[in-house]
Amino acid sequence: MSGGLTALGAAEIASRVAARTLSAEDVARAHLDRLALLEPKLDAFLQPLPERALARARQLDAELAAGRPAPPLAGVPLAVKDVLDIEGLATTCGSRILESYRPPFTATAVQRLEAAGAIVIGKTNMDEFAMGSSTENSAYKKTRNPWDLDRVPGGSSGGSAAAVAAGIAPIALGSDTGGSIRQPAAFCGIVGLKPTYGRVSRYGLVAFASSLDQVGPFTRSVEDAARVATSLCGWDAQDATSARQAVPDFEAALREDVKGLRIGVPWAFLEKGVDAAVMERFRAALAAFEAAGARVVDVALPHAPHAIATYYIVATAEASSNLARYDGVRYGRRAAAAGLRKMYGDTRDAGFGPEVKRRIILGTFVLSSGYYDAYYRRAQQVRTLIRRDFDAAFAACDVIATPTSPAPAFRLGEKTGDPLQMYLEDIFTVPANLAGLPGLSLPCGFTAGLPVGLQLLARSFDEAMLFRAGAAYQRVTDHHRQSPPLGEQS
Ligand code: GLN
Repeated sequence: MSGGLTALGAAEIASRVAARTLSAEDVARAHLDRLALLEPKLDAFLQPLPERALARARQLDAELAAGRPAPPLAGVPLAVKDVLDIEGLATTCGSRILESYRPPFTATAVQRLEAAGAIVIGKTNMDEFAMGSSTENSAYKKTRNPWDLDRVPGGSSGGSAAAVAAGIAPIALGSDTGGSIRQPAAFCGIVGLKPTYGRVSRYGLVAFASSLDQVGPFTRSVEDAARVATSLCGWDAQDATSARQAVPDFEAALREDVKGLRIGVPWAFLEKGVDAAVMERFRAALAAFEAAGARVVDVALPHAPHAIATYYIVATAEASSNLARYDGVRYGRRAAAAGLRKMYGDTRDAGFGPEVKRRIILGTFVLSSGYYDAYYRRAQQVRTLIRRDFDAAFAACDVIATPTSPAPAFRLGEKTGDPLQMYLEDIFTVPANLAGLPGLSLPCGFTAGLPVGLQLLARSFDEAMLFRAGAAYQRVTDHHRQSPPLGEQS
């Protein structure tokens, strides 16, 4: 990233646009230019929206000139994962089956950020129906990691993460069902927040697994994450699962220190299978927290090793039910076939990719009458045990820290032949989804030129704790200030 407008963070852009020393139109133009420049390399976007963005930016400039008080994200360019609806625009969810779908409404998450002054510059690539850890399951294109174009950006929100890391947008929206915000944030060297279950409205979010899905932001700093979260969070009458919980001043939490804070590390859970260099960065991050006055304590998450098995039962069961609605009648594409049953079958056969079919078959199996007790019911029981482990752990600590992923970004194609290997990517991220907890991934260093992510987890609805700890860490480190070697000027 060069030192121009595309290097600025959200808070900086908003304050300059508010002061009218910078126009929203110039900001939008700089980011759209960078999008056009880098898209051939990165393939991060499914749908750039230059005209819409410039029109909205001009409108905001005119309103500010007329004396409208500046909103908190005034003129901040925003990239939106294609799992979120925007009225009248294609929302494909990375799938052929939704190729022709144009939603008649806008997701609350997008609508709130637009109301806060953000300017949507495009919709980003993703694994089909958010199923994956590499964005290679998109039906349209494979996004590349800005730090190494031969590697994946992580997934499923890989397009959004790549866009923010490459300076195409300072903020982006993603969704996290088992790690799809935190893992790509880690792979791309940026900040990703999965809010508490119920914290952010899911109205207009295409459902994958309804008891796990959450919408959240990507940013390059913890400060910006707090700024975006303040506009994003809160109860919504349109979403019955959104929580009636007050949203505190997240930006106030940024100013607190970490003296006396107890950071719990589930050492036994980390014992197996973490890359040596990742472990070294993780230990260095803990040392930085200790130097800032925090205390590192050992906590136990005895059932966490079962989180992957549990997740892939619960998530596939819910997905098989949620995806039943794509039948060629109500949404998107329809196969030409004589007879209703054949039309259903042909539509789904042509419309869904292999990973989505695998999940639907798995989910249908675990819910089937003969196997329900052995798989689905058992998984729900283990899920309760995982949640109780966290309750016990949080009696002894304020934040839990782990690496976000066991290893840095892998090569394109490296894991596509082995779905189980791909699923194991999520070992440190899925427990928070099963328990409904908030989680933050932030950059904690590099190994062989690739970013490494630190994951922090907190009690339900205590995102403020994540911002407090994350901001304290970013005050004493500069990993988040590094930018990928794209060799471009803009
Ligand atoms: N990688 C996980 C999966 O494939 C998580 C995806 C997500 O969070 N949307 O299910």
